[in-house]
Amino acid sequence: MTESDTKTAVPTVTLPCQFCGAWNRVEASRIPDRPKCGECAKPMLLDRPYPLTDASFDRVLGESAIPIIVDFYADWCGPCKMMAPEMDAFAAKHAGKVLAAKMDTDRNQRTAMLFNIRSIPTIMRFEGATKTAEHSGALKLADIERFAGLV
Ligand SMILES: [Zn+2]
Repeated sequence: MTESDTKTAVPTVTLPCQFCGAWNRVEASRIPDRPKCGECAKPMLLDRPYPLTDASFDRVLGESAIPIIVDFYADWCGPCKMMAPEMDAFAAKHAGKVLAAKMDTDRNQRTAMLFNIRSIPTIMRFEGATKTAEHSGALKLADIERFAGLV
């Protein structure tokens, strides 16, 4: 194995900065260190659920080397509000091992329709662009960890 092979083997995630929109590639192991955007130097905020959009969804999933757990929700949904702090705790606890993400299904209808989401909250696990698990209904932290395959 050459040195460049070793470098490309480092697991990374690729995400647009939430402040300036610049795409950043971040080493997964550095997520808990609160990495900053290479363009505007603001924090990437990856220790809380990352807001995916129709525009960013395909690229983020396609270029992530760690599993992504996506919480599909809407602002008016009571059970979604109950689940939000559980997802926040999950994101903080497992930052770097998985990428916790969320998607507002009202603002991102293309993706919601693509996955045929009929009830929210719906949570999905992706490995790359491949969906590997799905659950509908609010979950507690321990259930999310089980769903994500972390316990
Ligand atoms: Zn930025």
